Amino acid sequence: MKKLFIMLAAVGCCAANGQTVHTLPPLPYATDALEPVMSRETLEYHHGRHVQAYVDNLNRLISGTPYADASLEQITITADGAIFNNGAQILNHIIFFEGLAPEAAALKTPAGSLAAAVDRDFGSFDRFREQFNEKAAGQFGSGWAWLVSDNSGKLSILTTSNAGNPLRDGYVPLLGIDLWEHSYYIDYRNRRAEYLDNIWRIVDWEKIGSRYMAR
Ligand code: MN
Repeated sequence: MKKLFIMLAAVGCCAANGQTVHTLPPLPYATDALEPVMSRETLEYHHGRHVQAYVDNLNRLISGTPYADASLEQITITADGAIFNNGAQILNHIIFFEGLAPEAAALKTPAGSLAAAVDRDFGSFDRFREQFNEKAAGQFGSGWAWLVSDNSGKLSILTTSNAGNPLRDGYVPLLGIDLWEHSYYIDYRNRRAEYLDNIWRIVDWEKIGSRYMAR
């Protein structure tokens, strides 16, 4: 698959019996580095417990199946049921966590060709964020909000429920924001809109832009 996912190559490694052993990718920053937008307690539970559980589940589920040596991308695109749910959730969280950065370090606005595409397809960056937050707030229950690109570079905003990933529909996910309550309940309780307002302080548009260039 595209360069977007080369950086994910370290996610799984190989056991002697040929079955891929998926491992929890480390966060690219300290667990307290996203405070105050996202607390250390949230990251410890979200990354260390929830995503770890998806990794443990997937390794157990794929044993003896055609997905035993499949990549996360292959699982996300082709699997169904529990293997899809756990595999896609690992990929979704890698896209999410790697798209964030400490507030002082994050590039706060798109640059270069991505900035031009945001203006072209949404009117302005402010309009993009308004539309994104509106769709994200309106996603009923657990799911994800995405900025995606099609093959031509046209941008759009999608939401998916549960473990859904835009790769299933042929889009390249550039930015994924977790709408499951475990992503915000410790810091914001039930206030999803406040979480969505604050998340922009730690979205790293340098990373999102590099995904757009690599699509
Ligand atoms: Mn999550």
